Amino acid sequence: MAEKAQFTADEERSVREAYARDGHADCPRCAVRMHERAIGGGSFGLGYARQREWLLCPQCKRSVLFDLKRGTRN
Ligand SMILES: [Zn+2]
Repeated sequence: MAEKAQFTADEERSVREAYARDGHADCPRCAVRMHERAIGGGSFGLGYARQREWLLCPQCKRSVLFDLKRGTRN
């Protein structure tokens, strides 16, 4: 299997925090703006619009996937 580049847990958390705070995030390794991609709900046949965001670094190809939980921010 090919090696799959991944962020460390700390890097991933910093990306999530930056995105939650600023609405965008930079790759902690490359310092370039990460591409955002919304993933629509319903793909798992749940009949429930669960919105997910996928952030991808165009340089190192590392990505962060996470759920956007509406109305549950604290
Ligand atoms: Zn990167």
